[in-house]
Amino acid sequence: MDSIGVLMACPMFTYLEEELEKRFNLFRFWKVADRAEFLKENCNSIRAVVGNASAGADSDLINALPKLEIVSSFSVGLDKIDLGKCREKGIRVTNTPDVLTDDVADLAIALILAVLRRICESDRYVRSGLWKKGDFKLTTKFSGKSVGILGLGRIGMAIATRAEAFGCPISYYSRKEKPDTKYKYYPSVLELAANSQILVVACPLTEETRHIINREVIDTLGPKGVIINIGRGPHVDEPELVSALVEGRLGGAGLDVYEHEPHVPEELFKLDNVVLLPHVGSGTWETRTAMADLVVGNLEAHFLNKPLLTPVV
Ligand code: NAP
Repeated sequence: MDSIGVLMACPMFTYLEEELEKRFNLFRFWKVADRAEFLKENCNSIRAVVGNASAGADSDLINALPKLEIVSSFSVGLDKIDLGKCREKGIRVTNTPDVLTDDVADLAIALILAVLRRICESDRYVRSGLWKKGDFKLTTKFSGKSVGILGLGRIGMAIATRAEAFGCPISYYSRKEKPDTKYKYYPSVLELAANSQILVVACPLTEETRHIINREVIDTLGPKGVIINIGRGPHVDEPELVSALVEGRLGGAGLDVYEHEPHVPEELFKLDNVVLLPHVGSGTWETRTAMADLVVGNLEAHFLNKPLLTPVV
């Protein structure tokens, strides 16, 4: 398979690069100085693209690669891939579901605890020597708070299971009510927000879910409410979120993702009721290795004419 051209869209994980390089003719797109020239020269040898949550295969790239057969994403989210175009052209698409679910759910709970119990602020309090001047202020209890989950899929369900262990009543909103769960269903995100103290965003980013967390939802959660976003940045209208936090109309936020990564609104840096992570939901050695193995396994399966491991299209 070493003559098959595989284009990696951006740097992801050294192990993945090494495993791809062992098997295929690997092109690193981020190292290319003149992309148009590169595509003109290599478009007939590139048969696969490997993307992730920050770079994938948009319609321009797909159009520039006439021999493209498969896009294998090093992510579960598919928002950086033009799925419609892939369907139209018969290009297969794979992602990395399930293997990252635990990590992302663990991190959602960590964000909830960090925001409510002010873990990062307490850590700064100790390090800066302030403890010697007095005890840290009281914070807010997590156990028993009502948790609303926007998108009760693999990750949403794993968050629900974890939050249940904290004695939290769980409710959710998805497009369809899930028949095999005991959690309370609300038919709109507004109703979910009205009945939740903590709202966790865990749905895929699509045209329908872009800015699904808008001013109305934020104001419904209110000054004691908390938003946790481990989905995608554009789920939240970020300027509205920032102004609600600055004005005290929202109680707090725990964010792993942002509208324009890696740019984070600087107004948030001053706020102690906000915890900011650099999109690390699946960022453990164990999970990233399992994701890389899935990316490589899907490509191998495709080029050996075997069934794909985790097909989307
Ligand atoms: P999943 O199993 O497909 O679950 C997605 C859930 O969202 C489903 O329950 C689906 O239910 C619901 N949903 C879809 N469209 C919706 C809409 N318009 N409104 C409300 N709910 C909707 O996906 P997953 O594996 O849990 O992953 C979820 C997302 O997490 C990914 O797409 C990705 O963006 C994000 N993620 C982030 C990180 C990170 O590092 N922070 C890591 C991994 C994943 P219905 O079909 O019934 O609506």
